[in-house]
Amino acid sequence: MSKHAFKTEVSQLLELITHSLYSHKEVFLRELVSNASDAIDKLRYLTVSDDAFKSISFDPKISIFVDRDAKTIVVSDNGVGMNEEELASNLGTIARSGTKAFIDKLSDTERKDSNLIGQFGVGFYSVFMISDNVEVISRRAGADQAFCWSSTGKGQYSIEPSTREGFGTDVKIHVNEEGSEYLSRWSLDSLLKKYSNHIAYPIHLVSREPKYDKDGKEEGKEFVDEQTNAASALWRRPKSELEDKDYVEFYKSFSGDEEEPLFWLHTKAEGTIEYNSLFYVPSKVPGDLYYPVAQQGIKLYIKRVFITDRETNILPQYFRFVRGVIDSDDLPLNVSREILQQNRVMTTIQQASLKKIFAELESLAKNNPDKYRKFSDLFNTQIKEGLCSDWQNQKTLMGLVRYKSTAVEGWTSLEEYKTRAGERKVIYYITGNKEERLRASPLLEAFAAKGIEVLIGADEIDEIAFATMAEYEGMSFKSVNHADSDGDLDDAGEAADEAAAKAATEAAKRVLGAKVKDVRLSKRLAKSPSCVVMDKDDPTLQYRELMMRLGNAELPEASPILEINPSHALVKKLAALEERRAASPEDAALGQDLDDLANILLDQALLSEGQKFVKPADFIERLNRQLARG
Ligand code: ADP
Repeated sequence: MSKHAFKTEVSQLLELITHSLYSHKEVFLRELVSNASDAIDKLRYLTVSDDAFKSISFDPKISIFVDRDAKTIVVSDNGVGMNEEELASNLGTIARSGTKAFIDKLSDTERKDSNLIGQFGVGFYSVFMISDNVEVISRRAGADQAFCWSSTGKGQYSIEPSTREGFGTDVKIHVNEEGSEYLSRWSLDSLLKKYSNHIAYPIHLVSREPKYDKDGKEEGKEFVDEQTNAASALWRRPKSELEDKDYVEFYKSFSGDEEEPLFWLHTKAEGTIEYNSLFYVPSKVPGDLYYPVAQQGIKLYIKRVFITDRETNILPQYFRFVRGVIDSDDLPLNVSREILQQNRVMTTIQQASLKKIFAELESLAKNNPDKYRKFSDLFNTQIKEGLCSDWQNQKTLMGLVRYKSTAVEGWTSLEEYKTRAGERKVIYYITGNKEERLRASPLLEAFAAKGIEVLIGADEIDEIAFATMAEYEGMSFKSVNHADSDGDLDDAGEAADEAAAKAATEAAKRVLGAKVKDVRLSKRLAKSPSCVVMDKDDPTLQYRELMMRLGNAELPEASPILEINPSHALVKKLAALEERRAASPEDAALGQDLDDLANILLDQALLSEGQKFVKPADFIERLNRQLARG
């Protein structure tokens, strides 16, 4: 037997593991299974690439034996194995340069912070979280002699000759108090399903379980040996081998969604960075879409080993409804969350994935409009979220967003709007809640009369989304809720009686005072007597409401501009009353009528914009008084 001291960095790592990683101790199994799978990968490669190994034929298999009485767990594989030198160099030093660099970088305080290293894979040494005595019995493929490496994880290890039937490695863990919870078939099974279900080789769980006779009485024990994983990393298989039903089954197995997905996107990237990705878009809005912190739907695997499905904004927030898998061979398994976010490989994968999804949506919109319509029904709002938050891709998102419109049934794109607009260089839109209400808004009357199309923004987010779009292919955006949006409309003109129009405007201004910013003759009204718009730079009433609800009280007060329609009977009546008032300024009843009429013109305009009155009783009282007057 030969005794050896661990290299300094191994001792440091062991220290780190035993002092800070208790809450993550279950990762030991993931790490060992991953090593076993790697060892099988290596041998498989040798058998196809190296003449010396070509004669070896083997059925790859990972077995996990648990013995509750002996308090041992053995993780066994028939992979490439290790000879004496390899045992010493692989398990006596830190094989991965990344790990060493990471440990060197950690300050003393960081070393005590288990959060920082929470996601940090610690490889083989993680077994020392649940054991004070580990044996690794390994026989290198092609060699006759096996060796046993053993250590208590306290500074030293020893190696001695041993025996093993066939090549491969057994990691025998003498489980301590910390790990007693893992001495059960049930807990190992659930860990394997959680972390290693998509390891491509069969994983068998073997244990001795009580055997019962037909009366339910225990009559000794029997070995139970069952495969626990699906043993197929579906996303790594060539598309040509897979049928729709495989994709759907897999989706259901991990998404918790009973329904079939709307579509999926399976990519194998080859070249400088290699990875597989499989993304699904659900066919219904996930229940948690609007939770404050919605779950990220992408699982990250590295070499088929599950790493995380949380907190790794792999796709932007607005694509949080996308479910799926990214599996990369070019990321180190020991990557920490913090490091992941700055990792060059990861960034490349993220950007490429996003591009792929965009391209798929674009092609769907072009080639499968029905499906894209369904997509818009479900996730158009998220595309709008993207418009507000992802400047880099805003142009692409503008191509993907859809709107309801006064010109067509169903959804329309900005591109289609542009085509219909012809020479016009303005995209008009109206915002507010409820599509039906917006369609009936007086603000649209003259646009309708002139055949000018207006997009309907009935989503709350439209208030912000439209405002963030500066232009679309040379067209600017204009809210019809704003006063300066009447440039394409005909002049108010026609006010048969200019003096009357002036009188009505002045009466309304005087009566309404600070309730309005201004009173003007409207170009946009055909049927209705009045409407309200906001001055060019003032927020719309809906925007104000939204901001107040979001707790933004900073927004300056701004009153609307009242626009009146001089050819409407009510406005004519207001003018007539105002002209009579010049003759008899003391007439109280006349004053009351003027007061009522001007207020009613404002209130009904606010009402059709969906505004709530502070005192509805005032409006009703005025209305009733005027109706009674006949
Ligand atoms: P990593 O697997 O990330 O390289 P580990 O500390 O887990 O780091 O393992 C160190 C090395 O030990 C591995 O790179 C591998 O060469 C070797 N090794 C570990 N487990 C096995 C195994 N089951 N079979 C063959 N070699 C193994």
